[in-house]
Amino acid sequence: MHFHIITIFPNLFDSYLADAILKKAQDKNLIQFSFYDPRAVTKNKHKKVDDIPYGGGPGMVMMVEPIINIWQNIIKKSFKEKLPFTKKRIFKTILLSPGGSMFDTPMAKTLSQNYTDIIFICGRYEGIDSRVQQITGAELVSIGDYVLTGGELPAMVMCDSIARQCCGVLGNQESLEEERISSHEMYTRPEHFLYKSKKYSVPEVLLSGNHKKIDEWRKTH
Ligand code: SAH
Repeated sequence: MHFHIITIFPNLFDSYLADAILKKAQDKNLIQFSFYDPRAVTKNKHKKVDDIPYGGGPGMVMMVEPIINIWQNIIKKSFKEKLPFTKKRIFKTILLSPGGSMFDTPMAKTLSQNYTDIIFICGRYEGIDSRVQQITGAELVSIGDYVLTGGELPAMVMCDSIARQCCGVLGNQESLEEERISSHEMYTRPEHFLYKSKKYSVPEVLLSGNHKKIDEWRKTH
């Protein structure tokens, strides 16, 4: 899976991708990240990528041309690079928007299974000129009912969740929740924990060794 991220703040991704599971997955070539800054392709001398909105209103709108130039180049360039296993590349474009369809695990799974390349377009300011969506056919996706200052965190959240669905990324593929009965309530050693003279204990059923009973407990906790 190759994640292509169009953002005017590529540095925001650095620390998260430089550690833990996503770092390991990149080292193993299971996933790959590329960043594209619209400022780098602007033709005007002040590297302007936004302008005032038609019809008035507060804030600035990200301009269509720099983003479309980048988007076109990503697809053109990627088609020239050979893939080791699959025969052809299949692209998906996602435009982060608080008004888009809600991201969830089934969407992450579908994206990880059906595409080789995902292009994320991160908005800033008031958002992105709507002609970007019209031209690219991008799907508008939201990560939740709240408004953030930019599309970078939403893109990172989606990449994290999609990556863990990609084969080999989780050390133990059984960790994927949908493959097993999982519970949001969990315990590890010690069996009893004393805090302010009160004893907090692990539920007995988890110590019973009775897997049928444990599965039943996990379905309801
Ligand atoms: N007034 C705009 C909000 C702009 S927020 C509107 O109502 O659409 C600036 C950018 O942050 C957006 O263009 C989008 O890319 C990103 N963003 C903010 N909140 C988001 C969310 N919950 N999910 C996905 N993207 C979000």
